[in-house]
Amino acid sequence: MAINLAGQPILILKEGTERQKGKDAIQQNINAARVIADSVRTSLGPLGLDKMLVDQFGDVVITNDGATIMKEVDVQHPAAKMMVEVSKTQDEETGDGTTTSVIITGELLKQAAKLLEQKIHPTVITEGYRKAADEALNIIDNASIKASIDNPDILKQVAMTTMGTKVVSESREMLADIAVKAINAVAEQDAEGKWKVDLDNIQILKKKGENIEQTKLIEGIILDKEVVHSGMPKMLNDAKIALLECAMELEKTEFDAKLQINSPDQMQMFLDQEQKMLQDMVETIANAGATAVFCQKGIDDLAQHFLSKKGIMAVRRIKKSDMEKLGRATGAKIITRLKDLTEDDLGYAGLVEERKVLDDYMVFVEQCKNPKSVVIMIRGGTEQVVDENDRSLHDGLCVVKDVVIENAVVVGGGAIEMEIAMGLRSFADSLSGREQLAVRAFADAIEVVPKTLAENAGLDQIDILMKLRSAHGSGNANAGVSVIEDQDHVADMLEQAVVEPALVKKQAIKSAAECACLILRIDDVIASQKSSAPPGGPGGGMPPGMGGMGGMGGMPPGMM
Ligand code: ADP
Ligand code: MG
Repeated sequence: MAINLAGQPILILKEGTERQKGKDAIQQNINAARVIADSVRTSLGPLGLDKMLVDQFGDVVITNDGATIMKEVDVQHPAAKMMVEVSKTQDEETGDGTTTSVIITGELLKQAAKLLEQKIHPTVITEGYRKAADEALNIIDNASIKASIDNPDILKQVAMTTMGTKVVSESREMLADIAVKAINAVAEQDAEGKWKVDLDNIQILKKKGENIEQTKLIEGIILDKEVVHSGMPKMLNDAKIALLECAMELEKTEFDAKLQINSPDQMQMFLDQEQKMLQDMVETIANAGATAVFCQKGIDDLAQHFLSKKGIMAVRRIKKSDMEKLGRATGAKIITRLKDLTEDDLGYAGLVEERKVLDDYMVFVEQCKNPKSVVIMIRGGTEQVVDENDRSLHDGLCVVKDVVIENAVVVGGGAIEMEIAMGLRSFADSLSGREQLAVRAFADAIEVVPKTLAENAGLDQIDILMKLRSAHGSGNANAGVSVIEDQDHVADMLEQAVVEPALVKKQAIKSAAECACLILRIDDVIASQKSSAPPGGPGGGMPPGMGGMGGMGGMPPGMM
């Protein structure tokens, strides 16, 4: 393109560059973002439908999980990509509420489009949206209910609410129990008494076969290894466990070390001595009272033989990270020099057993006392079920963690959103003219959550919304969209135990507002031509056809 300055055309952009400016650019971006929001709308809530995602190789993912849908769908429009980022951030920060954050973003943009039509400047809208978002966070804080690790019932309800919206919802009670127990096991208090949860200490093992109901929590760890020697016990009760970082081998003689052997006697002596050293090692272990040895390095054949004669089970070449988990699970200390091993260093597991799972042998270290590392073994009839089970458990674990860390829950089913909308409308009264409009638009946008829940339950959106507004207006803060059959469809959601982490709702609003504002502030989209960019280099980022829906070509059939 060219700009004419004082009669001299100056070329500033390469020829063929696509460019959209002003209203057009904003409108196109809003449209693209709304298409994304619309595509996940129908999956929101307990009656949301599932999506079948098919990639170019024909692999199928069946899911109801917003984050997964957004991850798998190949979008190209830059504004649509920003929506994908919203769901990613939401997932990383909280592990839930991804669909919610995306549809709120879409609705904020839809409401903004109406304001733009009324000639309200984007800056006024974004300012109003920022104020509204801050106020919404305050409203959530004021409306939230205290909950902590000491309320296992609430934690379970939170997990059940989250998992109730997924494919595996029939098994949610059992899965919720597992999630709460797992988080309880690995949660730790820091010096100031604040709870910390590292999800890495919950190992997830996926094995196709049996069914979801066989999914189970193992209070300990599973090693993808076999017991080293056939003569050793394959099962131990009340195992006393030694963890060795060092090898149970003799150090190899150096290349230049000379060994002068002049007679068969000397040879025998030398071998005897080697044997004696290995025997001593085994003796140290036996004297400490260990019945199972887990070794990060190798175990000499002869040492294996002596161990098996003493009835000690041994596993070798264990990953360092698994050694650490073993330590956290069994309470054993990892020993660097075998000589130092004493009874105090040993850990405990109620059961150590080698089992065959499908085609592999694995060593299960179970029934640990107060384990700080646990395993969830996920089962399911088909790979798709196992994967979706894994995703829901992930959500369940995340929301329980969110509550343990932030100590607050809110009432779901659209109840908290109705409170926010109502609070924002009265907040708007305190503002001047145009900003007021933006804050009211924000309030309208937040109501997309109860509206969509109603829509997905096959109910009349407007009717439900009116009922909800009047319920909240008369002080019924827990009124939400009830999906239980033969009941009034507006009900107290706390009574139905539909509770969610306050953190999830706060993050959804924060990231939705941020993304909407970012998109609204863009009034110029300049796309360089792909062909002019060096192969693989930067600059090829913006695809051609960014106007309109050209960029959605990667969406699999059946997505919308
Ligand atoms: P997200 O990806 O945003 O977490 P979900 O599909 O999990 O989307 O749906 C979450 C929404 O469904 C929340 O607003 C939550 O309050 C609502 N919800 C969950 N369970 C119920 C229920 N039993 N009745 C009504 N609403 C529910
Ligand atoms: Mg959810």
